[in-house]
Amino acid sequence: MLLTVLVVIVVLAYVVESLLDNLNQSTAKNPLDPKIAGLYDSKERERSIAYSAEKTRFGFYSATFSTIVMILALTYGWFATIDNWVRDRFDNQIVVSLVFIALLSVISWWLDLPFRLYSIFGIEAKYGFNKITPKTFISDTIKGSILATLIGGALLAAVLWLYERLESSFWIFAWALVSGFSLLMFMFGTSLILPLFNKLKPVEDGELKNEIVKYCASQGYSLGRLFVMDGSKRSTKANAFFSGLGKSKTIVLFDTLIEKLSTKEIVAVLAHEIGHYKRKHTLSMFIFANIQTFATFALLGWLLGYPELSTALGADISSFHLSALAFFILFTPMNIVLGLINNSWTRHNEYQADTFAKETYEVAPMRSALKKISTDSLANLSPHPLYVAFNYTHPTLLQRLNNLDQ
Ligand SMILES: [Zn+2]
Repeated sequence: MLLTVLVVIVVLAYVVESLLDNLNQSTAKNPLDPKIAGLYDSKERERSIAYSAEKTRFGFYSATFSTIVMILALTYGWFATIDNWVRDRFDNQIVVSLVFIALLSVISWWLDLPFRLYSIFGIEAKYGFNKITPKTFISDTIKGSILATLIGGALLAAVLWLYERLESSFWIFAWALVSGFSLLMFMFGTSLILPLFNKLKPVEDGELKNEIVKYCASQGYSLGRLFVMDGSKRSTKANAFFSGLGKSKTIVLFDTLIEKLSTKEIVAVLAHEIGHYKRKHTLSMFIFANIQTFATFALLGWLLGYPELSTALGADISSFHLSALAFFILFTPMNIVLGLINNSWTRHNEYQADTFAKETYEVAPMRSALKKISTDSLANLSPHPLYVAFNYTHPTLLQRLNNLDQ
């Protein structure tokens, strides 16, 4: 019975995702609002339509493949088979869970590899966005795997240890541990992890720096941690982000952004990022995310008491890792709903940050920066509203321009 529910959830999530993709493709060629109609010439519009069609088609193949594998794994009890294989070799419960999760990660990494390679070296390269060399790809993979094994492994071992000691009340401590760790990452991730993958440099002296210093002074914002990052190592797409809390607050501008935008446009983007800080978006999102993980851990703690979760996957004995796996599949519908709420909130914050830039700096460069960043990445300028609701963390270009015009 529970197994049927799990399979139905996997199928439904796939159907919802595919329907949304289809809807989104149905509006891709719609005539554009006069405000944005002139941004692409006809050739560029064709390219943008082709780019999003290709990405959607590829996403469909990749989702179909992983859904089929998941259904086969559930119905044929493959997870229980792996579990048994590990149990035959190890006695310690914590080790069994760790090895099981490691094996599953390695298998899914290999299954996903052809898709990831095609996405980077096929699609992104075809449209001229990719800058990842095979060498960068391999070194990213090695560094990423080492980090995931060390950090993920240590956290997981601690959670498993808590579960073995405390059983039903483990989840409160596990949550405290995970959220404490995410606070550390949130504050120091850009100082500790990011430099392993990218070079961060201060903004060079000159016109841009002067303009930035002037703007930051007008806002009483200390710009101790403002960096330019070599985003061009991986993609031609321009970007910027804000991270951290209090003294650890950091703004990162991609070198591609600096290369493509004018001085005023860059300062407008910077003003937008500072807007996220001044409007306390990062802090409130961090708190909200922790409330969500608290609720998730509470549910997990409660459901782990039911051996049916493990036996539904074909196992004879209940275990943390199998029950947690079944739990996360059961949780998928909830995840979709949470995604809707989170995305709508981040889009709301984007409007506020844009408005902040308009009020504290200038509206014209903000407007032209948004246009440049969108068209430069061949963004779909007429996405379907339902697709936007489910998938967009930022409002569409037209929505942002309308917000700036208010
Ligand atoms: Zn933003």
